[in-house]
Amino acid sequence: MDILWILWILHTALALEETLMDSTTATAELGWTVFPVSGTSENSWEEVSGYDENMNTIRTYQVCNVFDANQNNWVRTKYIHRRGAQRIHVEMKFSVRDCSSIPRVPGSCKETFNLYYYESDADTATKVHPPWMENPWMKVDTIAADESFSQVDLGGRVMKINTEVRSFGPVSRNGFYLAFQDYGGCMSLIAVRVFYRKCPRAIRNGAIFQETLSGAESTSLVAARGVCIPNAEEVDVPIKLYCNGDGEWMVPIGRCMCKAGHEPVDNGTVCRACQSGFFKPAQGDEACLPCPINSRTTNDGATNCVCRNNFYRTDSDPIQMPCTTVPSAPQNVISNVNETSLRLEWSPPRDSGGRSDVVYNLICKSCGGRGCTRCGDNVQFTPRQLGLTDTWVYVSDLLAHTQYTFEVQAVNGVSDQSPHSPQYVSVNITTNQAAPSTVSIMHQASRTVDSITLSWSQPDQPNGVILDYELQYYEKDQTEHNSSIVRSQTNTAVIRGLKPGGIYVFQVRARTVAGFGRYSGKMYFQTMTEEEYNTSIQEKLPLIIGSAAAGLVFLIALVVIIIVCNRTEERWNQSRRGFERADSEYTDKLQHYTSGHMSPGMKIYIDPFTYEDPNEAVREFAKEIDISCVKIEQVIGAGEFGEVCSGNLKLPGKREMFVAIKTLKSGYTEKQRRDFLSEASIMGQFDHPNVIHLEGVVTKSSPVMIITEFMENGSLDSFLRQNDGQFTVIQLVGMLRGIASGMKYLADMNYVHRDLAARNILVNSNLVCKVSDFGLSRFLEDDTSDPTYTSALGGKIPIRWTAPEAIQYRKFTSASDVWSYGIVMWEVMSYGERPYWDMTNQDVINAIEQDYRLPPPMDCPSALHQLMLDCWQKDRNNRPKFNQIVNNLDKMIRNPNMLKAMTPLSSGVHLPLLDRSMPDFSSFRTVDDWLDAIKMGQYKDNFANADFTSFDLVSQMTMEDILRVGVTLAGHQKKILNSVQMMRAQMNQIQSVEV
Ligand code: AMP
Repeated sequence: MDILWILWILHTALALEETLMDSTTATAELGWTVFPVSGTSENSWEEVSGYDENMNTIRTYQVCNVFDANQNNWVRTKYIHRRGAQRIHVEMKFSVRDCSSIPRVPGSCKETFNLYYYESDADTATKVHPPWMENPWMKVDTIAADESFSQVDLGGRVMKINTEVRSFGPVSRNGFYLAFQDYGGCMSLIAVRVFYRKCPRAIRNGAIFQETLSGAESTSLVAARGVCIPNAEEVDVPIKLYCNGDGEWMVPIGRCMCKAGHEPVDNGTVCRACQSGFFKPAQGDEACLPCPINSRTTNDGATNCVCRNNFYRTDSDPIQMPCTTVPSAPQNVISNVNETSLRLEWSPPRDSGGRSDVVYNLICKSCGGRGCTRCGDNVQFTPRQLGLTDTWVYVSDLLAHTQYTFEVQAVNGVSDQSPHSPQYVSVNITTNQAAPSTVSIMHQASRTVDSITLSWSQPDQPNGVILDYELQYYEKDQTEHNSSIVRSQTNTAVIRGLKPGGIYVFQVRARTVAGFGRYSGKMYFQTMTEEEYNTSIQEKLPLIIGSAAAGLVFLIALVVIIIVCNRTEERWNQSRRGFERADSEYTDKLQHYTSGHMSPGMKIYIDPFTYEDPNEAVREFAKEIDISCVKIEQVIGAGEFGEVCSGNLKLPGKREMFVAIKTLKSGYTEKQRRDFLSEASIMGQFDHPNVIHLEGVVTKSSPVMIITEFMENGSLDSFLRQNDGQFTVIQLVGMLRGIASGMKYLADMNYVHRDLAARNILVNSNLVCKVSDFGLSRFLEDDTSDPTYTSALGGKIPIRWTAPEAIQYRKFTSASDVWSYGIVMWEVMSYGERPYWDMTNQDVINAIEQDYRLPPPMDCPSALHQLMLDCWQKDRNNRPKFNQIVNNLDKMIRNPNMLKAMTPLSSGVHLPLLDRSMPDFSSFRTVDDWLDAIKMGQYKDNFANADFTSFDLVSQMTMEDILRVGVTLAGHQKKILNSVQMMRAQMNQIQSVEV
């Protein structure tokens, strides 16, 4: 530090004395007032020139009347201005003659004198005023010499000079006089200095204190407030320092400290901005720190250092820590393939980026002729795939004979900030041959007294083309040594030659070129007893009669339907009880399996009710989700069993997703719980973009929940109603295509929906439609809440959507789903209109029976209406299959010209269905009456002005005519056009009757 500064600081720290009067500086006579006046009395105080100890000439006052008694000699200074001081100090230098050294001195000889002061606002003293006596003068003290002298040196050179300081206060007038009273001594007043004390301007504890005068008493403390020096901030307040009577600062209180980006220098008197390359993160007395490695400052006074390019900090890195970067790639990967598993080991990256939090992620790609794709979820990583802390991983469940590329990425805490993707090292491997994995699900499709038909799912990891399956079975009481073997090229087999009512143990395994996989777990199935068989034969009889009769006479059919429905209902209910039932509703499926439609390994749908314990099916097909992963947000609808909510699902290691949550209301019976969860067991078997996806179930806590993907636009029927007329035909066909594709998938899995309707299609934010509602409970007789499902004999049926054979004799097949699909097409093209409007169910049944079909909705391209009519073919074998429907719609989408032609009215072999909600025009006299009846009376004048005054003319009206007469509201246009079309259809019917 520079020397000048030290001096300055020392100076400021010292007490300051401010002189008010100094007799030694007088250049001429002091001219003080003396009493008694010189000359009148003999020897009063006398001004004499002398020398101080340094032999400088000075003016002094002397007196020496020791031989005269009753001395009272005063000398008074000139008026001294107080200049704000409250306490005055007087320093007196004087010498006193030792009385004992004076020969024959009387006893009155004194070695002391008195000091007085007198306050006055102005210099008003005279020779007689103030009077020369104590009071009005104020006595300060009697001053005695520390040292007196016995011998006067004639040259005046050897003198014993005493110095005494006295102070007095408080003083408050503008000024004062001092007086010295001698009462019989021999002395010389060499110098008098009058001063006051003050504390100097000072910087203490980071604050500036201005110059402060001492207080009135020697013990006074005068408080002074401090102000922070520039770039410092208060830490403790108030900031105070006290100035004592000696003009010294003491008792500091509070403090200021240099703020962030500034450091104290010059002994804490200055806060200086951190220089380039230095920073200080917080307020304090510390010095600025050099920037950590790989960081720099952009200006002086930095509170932190920014990382250099390609270097980063995480939010939790301390700012004193060097900036770090991404790690380099891991090194020396070694792979060790064992059939379809693999162990990978590697060495840590050469450069960890300067961090100790390096972890490894594995990216798995399977590579074939058409490039590489990411591996599916089925590949297993141990201990895990992402965030590995060790330098190895075990990968299993790979496909056999497949080329894989594994990328081992090294990432650390700052990898996500770097635009350069993680550095990785990759390794290519090819898996070896491996046997197929175990078959996990086996299911009894049917049975007789001496046979059982079983089907099973293909192994999750076939590891190659499955050549065949081997089924081993033996009677429950026997051992594996007595087992028989059956081979099957498909995933189904009929085991014959069994004992009636016998319980058998079955195990199945798959075979590929790599050999057999392991046997599945043991499953037990029982053949029918003779008794059961006889009952089942009796049940089949009415079914055959019923089917034949239905096509002939409706009335007879109705009777038969009643019988059939009774029977089928029983079977329906039986199916819920378990699998002790006749070879009934699986007939269709079995034909399907055995006729070779299914490629081996193709998944089939398994009815959860065939499980003895339906909870087993839930465990099999639905993933259990921990309730802590689910966050319910709001109620969005009401389901069969409880509220439907939206919410979030955050599964460990996966991104949070928006989900729909169906809940089971409290107080449910065991049966309700089973029925509720059956929907999840069904949904969980499906995996298709047009089928609602099950995320999982919550069954281990209350309420029980089914969690599915969230479909932002809710159900299709209400969505269309809310957006009436808003979509292009291509958009509508796109929706229909999606539904058909989902249905094709379900049909391929042998699943019959039975309740396909727009209300059971959900729409997401991208207008993707997904088939949903796999619950079966609404068909059951005991549920009476929903009028859509009409109680028919043997269960409830959504009449308007259901194919006639399903209504009549419960023949629910994929072909009956196709019928329902035609109705969904009509709902979509009419933006959610109710099929058959407000006709009664019975009217609908009758109309369909008489070959009436729904007419094309407004603006419906004829190609689409034709497809609807195809779906509504009476003979279900003539209806298109879902794959044909998908192809047909694809063709229209590719070729929009096909959608240009609109249906001509009453064309084709199918008669359009009469809209019973529209009154028959022939019951009205005039067009005006007719307009009133269709509640469009406000357009009477419009019609009259445009000359549409007869039914003949009105029946020919087109949309353009309706617009031209001035009907501008879309809803009214639609209503009038529909009524005109009805009128035309009614006219055609009248004509055909007349013909
Ligand atoms: P459901 O019991 O399946 O008929 O559901 C009742 C109502 O909840 C439906 O009509 C929809 O409005 C709504 N809902 C059901 N599932 C979902 C879903 N996955 N996404 C959005 N809304 C849904």
